[in-house]
Amino acid sequence: MYNIAIDGPAGAGKSTIAQIVAKDLGFIYVDTGAMYRTLALACFRDGIDTTDEDSVVAKCESVKVTLGYEDGVQKVYLNGEDVSDEIRREEIGNLTSAIAVYPGVRKILVALQQDLASKNNVVMDGRDIGTAVLPNADLKVYLTASVECRAKRRYDQLLENGQTGDLAEIEKDIEDRDYRDMNRDVSPLKQADDAVLVDSSDMTIDETVQKIISLTKE
Ligand code: C5P
Repeated sequence: MYNIAIDGPAGAGKSTIAQIVAKDLGFIYVDTGAMYRTLALACFRDGIDTTDEDSVVAKCESVKVTLGYEDGVQKVYLNGEDVSDEIRREEIGNLTSAIAVYPGVRKILVALQQDLASKNNVVMDGRDIGTAVLPNADLKVYLTASVECRAKRRYDQLLENGQTGDLAEIEKDIEDRDYRDMNRDVSPLKQADDAVLVDSSDMTIDETVQKIISLTKE
């Protein structure tokens, strides 16, 4: 199997880029953030206190997260219900980084992710793919961009989806989320020693995709 790991901070364009790379190469795209978001949604719906680790882990162990593909687009299901749109809400994103710190939560999803990668050629994106989930990935990319640039992209995305947002607030949320993701004890976000750094601040989507595909040929 050929496994590509793409890690990086919130809003770096990982999912957009990873999805196109996967399509171009005929690989399966695995959005691990969507999996964590789905568990956060399950906790949110049941009003679980996200500071209560035992309750969060118990809830996450009791639900089923599955992935499916419609027209090549990844869908994520919570106990069989398609929650692909609902998990994108900003408040769920913020809750997600709060529950993603718990080892019991990560254990559930890492097992699922490793199983997928052992059976398929994958482009998998997340925070700990190159460092913890697929340490032997064939290609590791650390995709980043400046905070201002990432906030602006998130903001434009919200507008495109007919939602509104406050740019300064989004920038603050991104900074908080980066801080939590980079400073947690378990599998913090960091560039793997053998990952290639790609800064997309001044690159178009197409340029970024081409850069990653060219790295698979090296
Ligand atoms: O990538 P996305 O913004 O959807 O991820 C949401 C949150 O899920 C991240 O902020 C992070 O806390 C968590 N996450 C993680 N490990 C991954 C993927 C996502 O901890 N592999």
